[in-house]
Amino acid sequence: RAKDAGGGVFRCYEPQLHVDAEERRVLEIALRQALDRNELSLHYQPVVEAGSGRLTGFEALLRWQNPQFGNIPPAKFIPLAEAARLIEPIGEWVLRTACAEAASWPSDARIAVNVSPDQLHNPNFVTVVAQALANAGLPPHRLELEVTENAFVREGSSAVTVLEQVIGLGVHLSLDDFGTGYSALGYLSRTRFSSIKIDQTFVQGASRGMPEALAIIRAVVALAGSLGISTTAEGVETEAELNLIRELGCSKIQGLYFGRPLPVEEARALIRRARRPDASAAA
Ligand code: C2E
Ligand code: MG
Ligand code: MG
Ligand code: MG
Repeated sequence: RAKDAGGGVFRCYEPQLHVDAEERRVLEIALRQALDRNELSLHYQPVVEAGSGRLTGFEALLRWQNPQFGNIPPAKFIPLAEAARLIEPIGEWVLRTACAEAASWPSDARIAVNVSPDQLHNPNFVTVVAQALANAGLPPHRLELEVTENAFVREGSSAVTVLEQVIGLGVHLSLDDFGTGYSALGYLSRTRFSSIKIDQTFVQGASRGMPEALAIIRAVVALAGSLGISTTAEGVETEAELNLIRELGCSKIQGLYFGRPLPVEEARALIRRARRPDASAAA
């Protein structure tokens, strides 16, 4: 017991810490069983062209519904999965499930899948991706992998090697949450990204008139333009934000304005509707 240590420096049983550690422990045990118990699912958020509003595909977002704890947000359980070394099997399940689903969509629709830095640590990652594509019968160019700047901070040059192998398959790569971490400008020039995703904090900031947020979006769009890659703005919630983002010249848009992450059947219905011959602009 911490008390018995008598005047010791470490107070391991701070009530707040105790609750957090206990919660972590309990959640981790539940998370270990989540895959086998079918508690994980994917929701699919629409991605649209900024100019036309055309639906280009979806981003797969992981959901965990536990009978005891309810719906646990990814911001809470992804770090837990990483710490418990569960992110590799979970990430592989996400890839397989997302690729299989996308294979049932119209043949020009893309699927974006988030990849944790820990997955890039494994030199077999390229095999995992290749097998997910092959099993699903999905052409590589229809898959986009999203990595964050943290991948480069934490895994360094080994991540670059693994990402180059994945690009070699014909898969697209995007840099997620750009500007929120340690910006990896060096890697941006050394790795062939297809797009940069501008984090929603900048979109929200710009729409509230923050000059810094506006300046950053302008700079990122210019940087991407000169590198010959596209930009996606995240977290577009209103028509005013849509217009602002269009003016700033982002290529694609994601956000509540065009649609929240949808259960699989709704996403499937949406993309089929969008591709009907008589369909006008999607969403
Ligand atoms: P992310 O990849 O940047 O995903 C975008 C997040 O923004 C999603 O949160 C999405 O629901 C949310 N979002 C979309 N539109 C709007 C909007 O208009 N306004 C606001 N305020 N939010 C919006 P979500 O689903 O909670 O996911 C959070 C993060 O968890 C993701 O951020 C991603 O980093 C991580 N994540 C989700 N699924 C996976 C996965 O399968 N694997 C890994 N490694 N990470 C995942
Ligand atoms: Mg993402
Ligand atoms: Mg993001
Ligand atoms: Mg994010």
